[in-house]
Amino acid sequence: MSQELIHIIEDENEIALLIRDYLEDDGFQVMISTDGQSGLEKTIEKKPDLVILDLMLPKIDGFEVCRNLRKDLDIPVIILSSKSSDMDKVLALGIGADDYVTKPFSPVVLLARVKAHLRRASKQLKAVNEDVLNFGELKIYTESYSVTIDDVEIAMTNKEFELLKYLAQNAGRVVSKDQIINAVWGNNYFGDDNTVPVHMYKIREKIEKIPSKPKYIQTVWGIGYKFIGGASHE
Ligand code: CA
Repeated sequence: MSQELIHIIEDENEIALLIRDYLEDDGFQVMISTDGQSGLEKTIEKKPDLVILDLMLPKIDGFEVCRNLRKDLDIPVIILSSKSSDMDKVLALGIGADDYVTKPFSPVVLLARVKAHLRRASKQLKAVNEDVLNFGELKIYTESYSVTIDDVEIAMTNKEFELLKYLAQNAGRVVSKDQIINAVWGNNYFGDDNTVPVHMYKIREKIEKIPSKPKYIQTVWGIGYKFIGGASHE
């Protein structure tokens, strides 16, 4: 059984421990951060399944933590707050939290919310995972990490595959080099300016009939790349 990891970012020890006890009793793995800075760093590093986030935190406040998490990660965030005026601010800022719980709260209610959000997140993940991105002769099987052209499998490295998948999932949209780096390498990016073009070159060599006149991946000069649905496009 894979245990889901919940990250509590809360500087009030009593509250953090209370939530932890409830979650652990229910079979969750729990980690706690007591300030916004380490909360943000640990979330990015450990990629928990859900974050419970207090708003008034030392170093970086919860608003800022939530905004930053939303840039790269799609982890459900439940905000805890002691003031209903904070809730107004959260809503006004549109910082992208998934839920709000006002202190004092019932741990049982919080636990129910945690489970509801995890169920929803795992459903979304499955829907994405089971997808076959179908572009006629080119098919991308996102679950098995395989790519076929006319039903012949094309060998790719993991990064090449992830890059192609990201482009294909954003078909018709221009994506920048930075967006690609974020999506494919995240925080493990130690490449230089050429890393993305080099990968792009290799992918085109593999999937394009004439790599110098790409049918699938267009370069949008000065901006980034665009995946085109293939066959019917000229
Ligand atoms: Ca606090």
